[in-house]
Amino acid sequence: MFNVETIRKDFPILSRKVNGKPLVYLDNAATSQTPQQVIDVIVGYYSNYNANIHRGVHTLSQEATDKYEQARQKIQNHFNAKHAHEIIFTSGTTHSINLVANGFSTLLKKGDDILVSALEHHSNIVPWQMLCERTGANLKVIPMNQDGELVIPEFDALLSKNTKLVFVNHVSNALGTVNPIEYIIKQAHLYGAAVLIDGAQSTPHIKPDVQALDVDFYVASAHKMCGPTGEGMLYGKESWLKKLPPYQGGGEMIAEVTFEKTTYADLPYKFEAGTPNICGGIAFGAAIDYMNAIGFDAISKYEHELLEHATEKLLEIEGLKIYGTSKQKTSVISFNLEGIHPYDVGTILDKLGIAVRTGHHCAQPIMDYFNIPGTVRASFAFYNTKEEIDVLVSGVKKAKMMLS
Ligand code: PLP
Repeated sequence: MFNVETIRKDFPILSRKVNGKPLVYLDNAATSQTPQQVIDVIVGYYSNYNANIHRGVHTLSQEATDKYEQARQKIQNHFNAKHAHEIIFTSGTTHSINLVANGFSTLLKKGDDILVSALEHHSNIVPWQMLCERTGANLKVIPMNQDGELVIPEFDALLSKNTKLVFVNHVSNALGTVNPIEYIIKQAHLYGAAVLIDGAQSTPHIKPDVQALDVDFYVASAHKMCGPTGEGMLYGKESWLKKLPPYQGGGEMIAEVTFEKTTYADLPYKFEAGTPNICGGIAFGAAIDYMNAIGFDAISKYEHELLEHATEKLLEIEGLKIYGTSKQKTSVISFNLEGIHPYDVGTILDKLGIAVRTGHHCAQPIMDYFNIPGTVRASFAFYNTKEEIDVLVSGVKKAKMMLS
């Protein structure tokens, strides 16, 4: 049974004050908060079995290795990957995308097309631009409409025999739009193109099944899913991961090294050079356990109620405009008050203990599309309440009064 008051007790930070007011944390799309269960795992690691993994014969090293590989299996199960070695630990979504982009440097040629959506985070734009510079491939953009949805007929029209890669986020961080990735993957595959889905914003709300999606690559960050920062994952189909060259060279990723020739380790280690974020990986597994114990169906149902409540209440404020009005949305509201800079609104909200994000949200092309410098973004997690949204709404009204 979903009980938000019980859940909130798991998050120590939620009982702190900011500027003398109870914290109202509504910046979950930037990073989520960490439950005690995950904090305990982090403390437990450094208190009991901190050791380097994979190459130690001593007990601590073996314990750390076992826990780290168990975490990989938890992630495999969560995303329903066929093999544990299709899960590569990375430092986060950005690292995962760069790893794939680097790998494709050897597979693309001049004249190949890469499709990227207009709704992307800079992390899913810049590495592909760099890849195009290296290979001579063309970057083509799937456009969006006023509701913040992708224009699917335009996507269909962009596909051709030259399309080699398609990159789309599952959910837009700036607007919350849930993109029709099932369709995008299916159509791209008809042309033999590989598809990478950026799951940084979907994974806090949705449990993706990579086999059912038949997706080639799926990437996520632990810190958006109640886990630690500096940790994330790349799922890649075995066949693709075997084809891609390693991203970084170093220890752990080799089979044999001589000065004449080095051979690489098998998956997943081929992509995991150096000592990894061992504690981060183990804590990522614990965060996934935590979220699954609550259940993603319950999480998304409850968050949807928060979204509806917040949308209705915010729209009652005259001069407030919401950007991203798709019916397929996660619990993110990007808005502006007419004639008022989002930064000023965010600053006043902070004085009231309310944490929101202001700015371009690493998605400048979306802001350019709407011809605005940025927005105020309130993003809700399953531990937020309707009462907190009411605090936000009265804070926005106060900001409007003070700044108009
Ligand atoms: N992609 C999207 C859609 C995001 O929202 C973010 C972070 O906000 C990223 C990529 C980058 O994630 P990270 O900074 O964890 O690598």
